Amino acid sequence: MGEVKAWLPRSLLRLPPGTPIPSVRADGLTAMRLRWEAGRLRRPEPLPATEPAPSLLVLPRSVDPHVHLDKAFTWDRHPNLAGTYAGALKANLQEHTTRTRDDVLKRGHRALELACASGLRALRSHIDSLGPGAACSWEALVELREQWRDRLELQLVALVPIEHWGTTEGEALAERVAAVGGLLGGVLVPPCAGSGVRRSLTALLRLAQRLGCGVDLHIDESDQNPAQGMQQLLSVLEAERQSPAVTCSHASSLGLLPMRRMEAMAERMAAQQLTVVALPLTNGWLLGRQRDATPVLRPLAPIRQLQRAGVCVAIGGDNVADPWYPGGCFDPLALMAASLPLTQLAPWQRLGLAPFSTAAAALMQLDWDGVIAEGAPADLIALEATGWHEALMRPPQRRILIRGRWSL
Ligand SMILES: [Zn+2]
Repeated sequence: MGEVKAWLPRSLLRLPPGTPIPSVRADGLTAMRLRWEAGRLRRPEPLPATEPAPSLLVLPRSVDPHVHLDKAFTWDRHPNLAGTYAGALKANLQEHTTRTRDDVLKRGHRALELACASGLRALRSHIDSLGPGAACSWEALVELREQWRDRLELQLVALVPIEHWGTTEGEALAERVAAVGGLLGGVLVPPCAGSGVRRSLTALLRLAQRLGCGVDLHIDESDQNPAQGMQQLLSVLEAERQSPAVTCSHASSLGLLPMRRMEAMAERMAAQQLTVVALPLTNGWLLGRQRDATPVLRPLAPIRQLQRAGVCVAIGGDNVADPWYPGGCFDPLALMAASLPLTQLAPWQRLGLAPFSTAAAALMQLDWDGVIAEGAPADLIALEATGWHEALMRPPQRRILIRGRWSL
């Protein structure tokens, strides 16, 4: 049993018919009383105007749909001081050849402790799945997934070059991944023209369909050849009769298309029910680099244009202190704050908050849609903040409620 009086985003609140309409501030927050029992929320009640204004801002526990737990915190031993995509790949490959199960266990544990304490309830992690560090990484992360099952949900994706799925070894990997409930992924960055790429994509989609796995691709993480990977994926999907759920992570170079072509592509993506994870921090750091010049063109998934077409778009943190990005901390509030200037998404608008909450939950097909309602899990982040500015100006102090119990 417990109770909290707090400001809640109206867009993340579902009230039963007949509930008095609560007054909502211009910043989308409304004062509510939340009670819970046996790990579930009771009916949320608008806080009477006679009560003092709350000093807390409450959000549902959050979701990060795209991280890399296997390589988190490797920057110190494998830095990428040039800050380029090529430099990141080189340092990543060097790190991969030296990693052990113990390394990945330690990194993953540190990451999940931070994630849980910051208020995440689910993460989807890609795992480097080709080469000497692949087997030990999967072993460690499956072990961590089981250890943490009571506190958070971990989804695991096999990350390999896309052509690997067309080989016998790729098929064997897919079967191993399916056996532990994972997803199939892959990298599709330019140059990716030609029928060979379409054959690999077809092999991947058919494998995933046969094995009942979802698919999550690294696609068009580039400042070259706008949307070349997406064009290939759409032409394959449009020719297939059935396909698994496909998430497109990055989709950064779509943002470089002229508006009409971008909108037409967004319509085709919506028709195929593709979902997108935008990754503004890693894209902002790696893409569009020029020697001795500050780039003004910043390749990023065109989030609002995709939303307008009906595509579900979430935002992820991607890399944390690894060769791809030196910052990050598995904190959903820090991610929201850092994304503000890059995405211009405002959390006081429904479509500004959804990529960090409900869209991420939908894309990961989680049991709870992330809306605060009667019967929903009593899983909350209670921030010491009376408005969005206090939630975003610095990582705020917080307490985390997991199934009705304060964990901190
Ligand atoms: Zn990634």
